[in-house]
Amino acid sequence: MIQNAHSLEVTEVLNRLESDPESGLTQEQVALRLKEKGENILSRKRPKSAWKILIEQFLSPIVYILIGAMFLAFTFSEAIEGFAILVVILLNSCIGFLMEYKALRSFIALEKLVQTTSLVVRHGKKLDIPSRLLVYGDIIEVRAGDVVPADARIIKQQGLQVKESVLTGESRDVNKTIETVSLKSRITEQRNMIFGGTTVTRGNALAVIILVGDDTAIGQISRIIQDKSKKRSPLQKKLNKLTNWLIVLTLILAGIIVLTGLLSSNDAGLMLKTGIALAVAAIPEGLPVVATITLARGMLKLSRKQVVIKELESVQTLGETNIICTDKTGTLTENKMQVRVIELEGEVLDFDQFKGENEAEKSNPAFKELIEISVLCNNSNPVKSKHEGDAIEDALIEFTAFTNFDAAQIASEFPEFREYPFDTEKKMMATVNQVGNSFKVNIKGAPENIIDLCATVNDHGKLKPFENKIDWLRKVEERASEGLKILAFANRCLDTFKEGSEIYKDFVFVGIVGFLDPPRKDIANTMKVYKDAGISVKMITGDHPGTAVNVAKSIGLLEPNHTGEELVKGTEFSNFKDCSPDLQRKIIEAKIYSRMLPKQKLEIVEILQMNGGVVGMLGDGVNDVPALKVADIGIAMGVRGTEAAKDVADVILLDDKFTAIKLAIHQGRAIFENIRYFVIFLISCNLAEVISVTVSSLINLPMPLLPMQILYLNLVTDIFPALALGMGKGSRDIMKMGPRPSGEGLLIKKHWRAVITYGLAITLSVIAVVICANFYMELSLVQTNNMAFVTLVLAQLLNVLNLPELKTSFWNNEITRNKWIWLSLIISLFLTFLGFSVDFLSDILSLERLSFNQVMISLGFASISLVISQLLKRVGVI
Ligand code: ATP
Repeated sequence: MIQNAHSLEVTEVLNRLESDPESGLTQEQVALRLKEKGENILSRKRPKSAWKILIEQFLSPIVYILIGAMFLAFTFSEAIEGFAILVVILLNSCIGFLMEYKALRSFIALEKLVQTTSLVVRHGKKLDIPSRLLVYGDIIEVRAGDVVPADARIIKQQGLQVKESVLTGESRDVNKTIETVSLKSRITEQRNMIFGGTTVTRGNALAVIILVGDDTAIGQISRIIQDKSKKRSPLQKKLNKLTNWLIVLTLILAGIIVLTGLLSSNDAGLMLKTGIALAVAAIPEGLPVVATITLARGMLKLSRKQVVIKELESVQTLGETNIICTDKTGTLTENKMQVRVIELEGEVLDFDQFKGENEAEKSNPAFKELIEISVLCNNSNPVKSKHEGDAIEDALIEFTAFTNFDAAQIASEFPEFREYPFDTEKKMMATVNQVGNSFKVNIKGAPENIIDLCATVNDHGKLKPFENKIDWLRKVEERASEGLKILAFANRCLDTFKEGSEIYKDFVFVGIVGFLDPPRKDIANTMKVYKDAGISVKMITGDHPGTAVNVAKSIGLLEPNHTGEELVKGTEFSNFKDCSPDLQRKIIEAKIYSRMLPKQKLEIVEILQMNGGVVGMLGDGVNDVPALKVADIGIAMGVRGTEAAKDVADVILLDDKFTAIKLAIHQGRAIFENIRYFVIFLISCNLAEVISVTVSSLINLPMPLLPMQILYLNLVTDIFPALALGMGKGSRDIMKMGPRPSGEGLLIKKHWRAVITYGLAITLSVIAVVICANFYMELSLVQTNNMAFVTLVLAQLLNVLNLPELKTSFWNNEITRNKWIWLSLIISLFLTFLGFSVDFLSDILSLERLSFNQVMISLGFASISLVISQLLKRVGVI
């Protein structure tokens, strides 16, 4: 390992690291260094350890209350209760631990699916390996869109620019060189170094790794990369808030009961029991576990459908998403480009699937120039038959193969001297190629921009002043409105080339090429699904408005008779705040944003958010990164996406299918609905327990529930229906409803009304059975209590049927269709039966066998709660 690599010559650095740019490290070197320094991961990104998860299980208010209750029980010689509560605490923590640990393992497995990789030269071969396996001395290649995997010294570079804001706070891109800088240079001045965690925005480089993992500059500074500014309060937090609130309420209630009880009666033991019973009754012990299981299960389900969600929390935001912004190429279209038309000055060449024989090849010298530019100003491999580069560039090479020209020969005849990589702001790329002793600059890019740089036009080999620019712009417009993607081509000769001189001027215009990029087949259907689901889709593209509108129409994003209102061009505004109110409204309501600069993408997302949008943003390029970060849900493409985009995204579509988002949204909505169901279920059940105990103790009725019985109910019998509710597929019309309002609480008013109604209805059944058993049937206190217990179990299980919305049928709805529900009810009934029939349990739970008649009477009383709830629901009380 070496210090201050920036101040050393590259050869010196390589020598000291025993590495070589051509062959890289050997396998043995790598193995040793990996052992010495460990994997290239920052410790703050290392997953939680099993110990930490275990300890965290005991650090929750629920456990504190239970521990408090346990101490009270032991102190007042209620040893059985004390032990039982201890078992509950341990059981609860164990289940919590196992669930969270399992979720963590799945996270790690999912992360492996989307881990960042780097191009590295090792033992003479170029390999694509996970970035965490890099070691110092490794030779890496980085290019635009990559996240730099570790701190490295640049060996070679072409137009390299890096965004180092994570490290330095500087938002402008930094130009990099290979020159040695002085020893004392600060990080911002070390232009010959690239640092882990920064993003390559332009160009490419070969570099040798100096430092990995926590030794890197980003690992050294304690300042943590600023977290995404997502405003929504996470679901887990909402749940915690709800639980804490319930705990406070319970403690107050328990305090009042114990106090009034102590003042009015002398039975301190009973009062204490009641207090403990209340404390354990109100706390929804199972809630956190069920919530974690439900979310983790949703994530796993989606990953099987090629959608990876990086954080559990994103699931809930997906359910709130009301706008989806997407780029065009490759997302809405196939990104399979084919040359369809070439227009030169005075000549139009239409190609039907490349079959066209064309005279221009022989007779028009401008055609030869155009082919030369296509081959030279191109990063695709001219020799390989299978191309893997930029789709446009591949298409140009493929097209050349159908002419009489030989791409490989052109490439070797005019070697590249300098490249100006594709620049998303300028929307063009250029190369300087050697032609004998002089040079030729070849350029291709967005027609408006290229035409602007041209002074002359190549008319069948003769140069003429370029006076018909307007005509050419019109031709571009016409072709674009046919749905073709249009690129313009130009060149210029130079006698000498001076590094740093301005090349973007005085070009000779050669012509335009129209590419066909067919819309994806499955898109039109998906558009309809989004429309029904109240989600508006917006296209933000760098492409020409004509092309964008044509594609939008063909996939149903725009009506065939669209008026132009839905289209905004990047040139129409530079700062939203300075726009007229009319333009502002147009920007907010538009469906197509064309010729957008990268920074405008970010601005659009922010504008939409400010106007109530919960925005899902799809992107793949490095220029999409800021917008992906700011969007409520950043969605990156797994195959086509750059490492930088995948790094900041919340959701990754492994198979690049736009349609997969609808699955994610469906799942997000269903999960939230399920969570709501079991929260309503658990809280209303707990409420019934609390009120039953409170009322009985206030009016001096026999105690309907003992602490152990409540614990058994909450932890054993209630948990299965709750889990089953979490497994539901969601209501049938879930994608026909609008998205949930942004930031809506876990439960809204109507849900609270439902919780209270169901809770009160169950209480009524319990109190009624107590009165009936005690006064009418004249049963013993134990039997009365046992009948109340059974009534409560049955009423709580029946409570599941209360959950579906009124608009669905009572017999056929998402709850009755959920087979898990039925299974859970059987399990819960069986567990209740065990409580009575296994001696050990019946002792702890103070249960005695009940007669068939007594059980039937309990069932009758339990049904009353269901009938009351349903009646109240139907008359509109809830
Ligand atoms: P989208 O934003 O939907 O992906 P896009 O690919 O057209 O569409 P950009 O990548 O921002 O968006 O490109 C903007 C413009 O730059 C293109 O419309 C095209 O005119 C030009 N362009 C794209 N790729 C190249 C390239 N490889 N060389 C030169 N110019 C290009």
